[in-house]
Amino acid sequence: MKRLLWMAISLVIIAQGARTATGAETKPAVRVTVVYNNVPHKAGLSTAWGFAAVVESGSDALLFDTGGDGPTLLANMKRLEIAPERINSVFLSHNHGDHTGGLNDFLARHAKLAVYLPKTFPASFQRAVKRRGARVVAIDGPQRLFANLYSTGVMSEGIDEQSLIIDTSKGLIVITGCAHPDIVKIAEAAHIYRNKEIYLLMGGFHLRGRRADQIDATIKALRKLGVRKVAPSHCTGDEAIAMFRAAWGKDFLESGCGAVIELP
Ligand SMILES: [Zn+2]
Ligand SMILES: [Zn+2]
Repeated sequence: MKRLLWMAISLVIIAQGARTATGAETKPAVRVTVVYNNVPHKAGLSTAWGFAAVVESGSDALLFDTGGDGPTLLANMKRLEIAPERINSVFLSHNHGDHTGGLNDFLARHAKLAVYLPKTFPASFQRAVKRRGARVVAIDGPQRLFANLYSTGVMSEGIDEQSLIIDTSKGLIVITGCAHPDIVKIAEAAHIYRNKEIYLLMGGFHLRGRRADQIDATIKALRKLGVRKVAPSHCTGDEAIAMFRAAWGKDFLESGCGAVIELP
């Protein structure tokens, strides 16, 4: 009887061990695919002013912003073989048309999901999202969305904007829409909130039209913060993108339309 009990206990321990081992093996790798951008990258895709990216982490697929229009977004996603039905949440950084313009057409295709948006989005906008059948999650302060995905919380320098944080074993991946609250402030906020180094900073850095010395100060501040890799595009501007490419060297990642960034 005692032996039988021990056998049963051992079997439970072995079974639990196997589960843990499987869990460790399937630790989420992250893939970010840029599906909408004014910066070109992959042939055969349409470029237009705006930004959107699909973040795949574990079994989740999140659409970060929606670009400026639905037809371009959906056509690019189709060419990149990402079915809208695979997306299980939408994250809207801020209420500018080049980031929200594709939402309505996207939700018309697929709305069984949550839309994470700054709580200051107009009530009419939030109502329209609900009417499409999606669930609205209004974001205020820094918070966990689900799994290893977080919001910096809504930051404001005139325009309310939240940025996405993916907490990975390599460090943080931070994705910005336009970085209106300032890319350095956003990076600092993400770093402080998660108490981890930034592995990759990507998205629009909003440096178009800035003087070279201002861009240089931004680069110095981000390097001081220890940002390992950068992938600026959209409203960063050609001049700033070139300066980031020179400053980060092999750790600069091209991130125009159709670019795929994978975390091993
Ligand atoms: Zn904007
Ligand atoms: Zn923008």
